[in-house]
Amino acid sequence: MTDRHDGRSQSGAPEADASGAPAWDGVLFDLDDTLLDLKTAQRAAFTATVCRQWPGVDALGEGPLRAAAVDFAADVRGHYQRYIAGELTFAEQRLARAADALQGLGAPGAAAVPDAQLWVTEYEHLVRSHWRLFPEVAAVLEQVRASGRPVGIVTNNVEEYQRGKAAAIGLGWIDVVVGSDTVGAPKPDAAPFLAGCAGLRTEPARTLFVGDSLKHDVAGASGAGLVPVWSVRDAADTADGSGEGAGTEPVDPSGHEIRRATAAPVREPERGCWRIGSLEALRAWL
Ligand SMILES: [Mg+2]
Repeated sequence: MTDRHDGRSQSGAPEADASGAPAWDGVLFDLDDTLLDLKTAQRAAFTATVCRQWPGVDALGEGPLRAAAVDFAADVRGHYQRYIAGELTFAEQRLARAADALQGLGAPGAAAVPDAQLWVTEYEHLVRSHWRLFPEVAAVLEQVRASGRPVGIVTNNVEEYQRGKAAAIGLGWIDVVVGSDTVGAPKPDAAPFLAGCAGLRTEPARTLFVGDSLKHDVAGASGAGLVPVWSVRDAADTADGSGEGAGTEPVDPSGHEIRRATAAPVREPERGCWRIGSLEALRAWL
């Protein structure tokens, strides 16, 4: 039998132990909506900001405002991806999302035009004030660290902004942070994943990648040769319980049934990944 040093068996599949769990030396995480509950923060900041932009929104009642907040956070029209693609500035994507929301709510006249001071500056202060890790994240990351495995972040926003965000939520100890601008291409391009592995000094095939987006995280990590782990949170994991849960894409674009998480990561052969409902599941691999 020929020795392999690239972390793959002779079949080309990542190595696994007797239980079927992958052998891994380090882990990279997506940041937004994987470690950080960004959607809850966005919904809170949206609701406060839209009420200042258009005080008459109160007359609509709670339902429409809540639905608009969910759509805003989910970026249903893909403005954030246009920012990542370099077609919009960060402020422009924010204003475009606000304009869509105001129009959808039926804001009249000038109230339908987002005030830049409100949506760029004041919204930013608000959303930052709501940045929180998901409840289990700090303890699980500490346990990973204690196991001697390095931890990094690969994220689709600019590195400097994301480093500041990570530091603000207690993750300043994570040295390896690869942003959308770090290596010239965002996820799902292989380059940021490989840069993350280089930072951790781990072989891609022995590196977990945990993220909430099938398109950007799971497909990207798989293409770069990492071990993809899809994070699909239950509704109860979001602070407001609404739990739309899936980033900037539908929860299940393939139409496959999503089976909710059990305690350990579950193999998803159709998607070529593992699936977890909370980072707690990674404890089974420690
Ligand atoms: Mg994400």
